[in-house]
Amino acid sequence: MTVLDDRITNGPDGYAGVVADEQWAAEVRRLADLRGATLLAHNYQLPAIQDVADHIGDSLALSRIAAAAPEDTIVFCGVHFMAETAKILSPDKTVLIPDQRAGCSLADSITAADLRAWKAEYPDAVVVSYVNTTAAVKAETDICCTSSNAVEVVASIPEDRDVLFCPDQFLGNHVRRVTGRKNLHVWAGECHVHAGINGDELADKALAHPDAELYVHPECGCATSALYLAGEGAFPQDRVKILSTGGMLDEARETRARQVLVATEVGMLHQLRRAAPGVDFQAVNDRASCKFMKMITPAALLRCLSEGADEVHVDPEIAERARASVQRMIEIGTPGGGE
Ligand code: SF4
Repeated sequence: MTVLDDRITNGPDGYAGVVADEQWAAEVRRLADLRGATLLAHNYQLPAIQDVADHIGDSLALSRIAAAAPEDTIVFCGVHFMAETAKILSPDKTVLIPDQRAGCSLADSITAADLRAWKAEYPDAVVVSYVNTTAAVKAETDICCTSSNAVEVVASIPEDRDVLFCPDQFLGNHVRRVTGRKNLHVWAGECHVHAGINGDELADKALAHPDAELYVHPECGCATSALYLAGEGAFPQDRVKILSTGGMLDEARETRARQVLVATEVGMLHQLRRAAPGVDFQAVNDRASCKFMKMITPAALLRCLSEGADEVHVDPEIAERARASVQRMIEIGTPGGGE
């Protein structure tokens, strides 16, 4: 129980009714200690959730932190497939997500049944899936990938084998362009957030801010269109930096640019402004906000810690097959993205 319980409301857009003030933060920390839980927050979480967490990072880095953490309970402030990935890598731990309705339009663009039907058309193909997929899709996958290692993963597959790449069409097309591979088939999935980051917008921003650098952090799928468009020349190449979360924060601390445009979900700006307060960070598109990420509200986190819900379950047989696809990726090369 928490002293703030009676203020929490639940509606179709999620849990509400609690202000993220000092009393809230103290209550969150008290309940986390009581439960013996570690709090993980994705970079795209609300600033208050990031500030109260033990660790902040991208989905794979957080899953690995979850596996290494001494605590038996993990509270994953992010979307559902990310909490599932943490469970896959830490099957003996209790993994909680503050609101299990926090989905992902990219992960939802392919189901395990869709993938099985696609595989039936190309029975000898190797399946490569971006980490933004459900556990059931990972279980049907040969090798997972992140945006940092997708090219390396595909290059490790013999030239004469067909490759099925899902679910992100921008990342898939970027990999096809870089590898020159004709037998790479790409699923037509996308994240609704990156729909707002288009070529015209990038070119206009480059003209309007001639001294600015452009940071692209495509780990979540929301900026894979920027990754693709930067490769097409929509922004001057010498000013584009494609970076993992950790690389982006390091670059921000070192940069001589007075202004940096950021092509990713707007939650990342909070970490960047904290790391380099003297730099003017601006979103390429300030509407690029993920409504699913923002379902992890202060009220949802409090309810989660108070009630021990929502718990994430993955069928052990699916988890084992999904884990194998993640392990194969790790054996091939750096997954990239850390804090
Ligand atoms: S930003 Fe896009 S890819 Fe990331 S969780 Fe939201 S919908 Fe999914």
